[in-house]
This record gives sequence, C-alpha cells and structure tokens, in this order.
Amino acid sequence: MSQQIYINGEYFGRDDAKVSVFDHGLLYGDGVFEGMRIYGGKVFRLREHLKRLWDSAQAIALTIPISMDQMILDVNATVAKNDLENGYIRLVVTRGAGPLGLDPFRCSHPQIIIIADTIKLYPEEFYQDGLELVTASTIRNHPAALSPRIKSLNYLNNIMAKIEGLKAGCVEALMLNHKGEVAECTGDNLFLVRDGVLITPPVDAGILEGITRDVVLELAAQEKIEVREIAITRYDVYVADECFLTGSAAEVIPAVKIDDRTIGDGTPGPITRKLTAAFRKLVGQ
Ligand code: PMP
Repeated sequence: MSQQIYINGEYFGRDDAKVSVFDHGLLYGDGVFEGMRIYGGKVFRLREHLKRLWDSAQAIALTIPISMDQMILDVNATVAKNDLENGYIRLVVTRGAGPLGLDPFRCSHPQIIIIADTIKLYPEEFYQDGLELVTASTIRNHPAALSPRIKSLNYLNNIMAKIEGLKAGCVEALMLNHKGEVAECTGDNLFLVRDGVLITPPVDAGILEGITRDVVLELAAQEKIEVREIAITRYDVYVADECFLTGSAAEVIPAVKIDDRTIGDGTPGPITRKLTAAFRKLVGQ
C-alpha cells in the first residue's frame, strides 16, 4: 500500500500531501514537532512525546486545534494505515497559512501533519564500533532567546553545527552552551561514563529534554548505575571512559572519538553496551 500522510484529519498520498507556501511553518519556522519511533506496531512513549509537543506549543503561544486524546487516535490511525511494524513518526504542527509578515495571530488555522515512514540515521557500523564527534563553534541557542527545551521548527541553530560536523567528516557535532559547558549534540543528548558513574548535562544546561534520555536514566536506575546530572565541560568528555548519544531516531549510539581524541579505549564500553542492550530489550528489538 502506498504511503498515507495525515494533514488535518485527511489522508493524502506522498505526492499529494502539500501545505501552503504561505504557511508560517515554512516562512518563519513557526511551529513545533516531534520525532517518534514505532516498535512492534506501537508508538514508543507516545504520551511523553505529546506532552512535550503540547509544552512546546504552549511556549510559542500556539494552540493545537485538537485534543491530546484525539491526537493519540490520529497518530495511531496513521501508523495503522501505513502498516508499519517498525518505523518513525514525524508529527508537525505549524502556525498555518497567513499573510506575509511575522504576525502569528493572523494565521487562523494551524496545520497538523503526521508522516509515518522509516528512518535510518546512521550506518550500522557506528552502532557496533562507535562514531566520531567534533565540537562545533556554533553554540546552542541561549535559553533566554529560543529555549532549547522548545522543539520548534526552527532548527537552524542545530543545522549550522551539523554543517560544521559534516565538513569535519563527523555525522554528529557536540554543541556547547553560552557558558561554554557541554549541552548536547545537534539531534541527540549526550552521556558520559567515568569511574562507573553515568553523567549527563542537566536540563538547565540548555538541552532538549530528550525522551530517550529519560528512558536511559530509568534504565540506569534499574541497572543500579549511579547517575549524575551535572554541568560538564569539554574536558570531561575528553577524559571520559565512555560516551554515547541518545535520540528517538538515533536510539543509543556510542561515540568513541571527539576532536581527534580517543575516548576511553576507543571502543564502546561496558556501561554503554549494558544500557544499549537494556534499551533494545525494552523496545523489543
Ligand atoms: N536534542 C535535540 C536537539 C534533538 O533534536 C533531539 C531529538 N532528535 C534530541 C536531543 C533527543 O530527543 P529524543 O530522545 O526525545 O528524541
């Protein structure tokens, strides 16, 4: 069956799924989104993703025009229509079409788009052997300007850092915050292991509160691994025993090199492997 894309309660084939060129999502990045995984035909942590979507919308004063219960029904219906056992959901809410000019209040109909698809962010060998990172010179958005907690359609901050990473031959780049502390990567949260302790930057370091990050923190508690959510610097990454990244699309992926320094012994370490296995078990993969 061909792909069925949801727009405002109706389904369209891939070539017919279109939005207005006057949509402020396109014109200004004015909107919010979520990226979620489908495992075994079910959307993983759907309620948590929707909570974050609603919070992001609230932060930009965007009213999502349907209830959260209706959104759950619509997301699940889109998954069922596309007959996906394992896959990825992109849920987008834009400000909608309006006159040229920033004024969001002249856009009267927010657009809801649900795309069910597959995703393969990184090659399999990175999951086995680990990937390499580089620190971007582009810092993460200042929380008082555009909070990194808002998952908005304005991803240029991350894209600028991603360009730096790709130009340096790395698929991901580390981003620091305005204080020079480690924040996160362009599309993933970051974890370190040192002396058996799992370390990750706190939310006030200016990060997206990753759903996979939360899952890994829960798994670490179950595995009785000590966790510290503390501000860290690049030094801490350089001297870590292990490093890995988390994200809905990336899942859990080891990082073994940064800025030309080998992390630990240059292979995915035991705690990374333990948490990866626990994550895979949880999602039934
Ligand atoms: N940070 C950023 C900037 C992201 O875009 C994402 C999502 N791709 C993440 C972290 C990870 O969040 P999650 O685990 O909820 O996918």
